[in-house]
Amino acid sequence: MTSFDAIDALRTELFNQYETLENKADILKSPKLKELLASIRTIEPEDRAAFGQAVNQLSQDLKAKVQADSEQVSELPPIDTTAPFDINGSISDFLPAEQGSIHPITQEIAKVSNILSRMGFQIFESREIDDQYHMFESLNFPKGHPARDEYDTFMTVEKDNDGEPFIAPAHTSTMQNRVMKALKGNLEKGLPIAASSIDRVFRNEDLDARHEHTFYQCEGVYVDKGVHAGMLVATLKSFLESYYEKELQVRINPFYFPFTEPSFEFALSCPFCDGEGCNVCSQEGWIELLGCGMIHPNVLRAAAIDPEVYTGFAWGVGVERLIMMKHGIEDIRHFESAKLDFLRQF
Ligand SMILES: [Zn+2]
Repeated sequence: MTSFDAIDALRTELFNQYETLENKADILKSPKLKELLASIRTIEPEDRAAFGQAVNQLSQDLKAKVQADSEQVSELPPIDTTAPFDINGSISDFLPAEQGSIHPITQEIAKVSNILSRMGFQIFESREIDDQYHMFESLNFPKGHPARDEYDTFMTVEKDNDGEPFIAPAHTSTMQNRVMKALKGNLEKGLPIAASSIDRVFRNEDLDARHEHTFYQCEGVYVDKGVHAGMLVATLKSFLESYYEKELQVRINPFYFPFTEPSFEFALSCPFCDGEGCNVCSQEGWIELLGCGMIHPNVLRAAAIDPEVYTGFAWGVGVERLIMMKHGIEDIRHFESAKLDFLRQF
């Protein structure tokens, strides 16, 4: 087989493999593709340019395929997100107060808080401006950690005492360190730390049907002696069954977060179709809903809790995501759109 035939063979192999991948972008990380790219320099000089071009073409075609398919997934009819009236004009009287209603996010946060309170979790508010220590260091993202780049959010021009800009939190995990310190006395009394922070978070996102720059997150932490991953799964299952008012199947897959070890992606049977397959779950019957895991020993240490004695779990879930699945809402941008025809359905 000539080296050019090898490119053709790999092309067929990778495009076949592509169809079987859950995360399509993984194809670009294929070791065989990397090997082929690396082999360019071993080709005889007279063939090298043509060979390199053919390998690059394969790599480009894969990228284009991933890109095209990802656009197809998120392609929903555009919705109008402009303000429904002239925000610079005088205040109109088109909406008498007696016709107003509580915003769906506020309503659902009350339900979520209520369920968690009854399960023994103390509810904390988060902050809308925080420092780098609580956003990163206290959560086991040391300075220069590559995972910091995945949390692209907004920062202030003003600097804190360490010369770092303040940050608009990209997750409510910014509260973990404070909550664990505040409730550490529980452990000394033989009681668990059980707390949840539900509040607004911010990301520098390209907006589409699934991504907003501002959304709500519900974070939970539980620390005690002998806490294990089975308790994490049982707690989340019980919480979600209360919220969706039905029995659910759940499953976890290994994942990576710096602040939990091991980390999991938590999926549940689609509450909309009970796992039969529908548009909400892309016919999968399962929905990857949230990230969770066992709290990393360094995160416990940062709150002066001894990881040799205590263990704990934590989770974070997007509140809009919960609501969208409950009510079959197809576009996250409805929530902040101030459109009355949307709001009046709640
Ligand atoms: Zn479904």
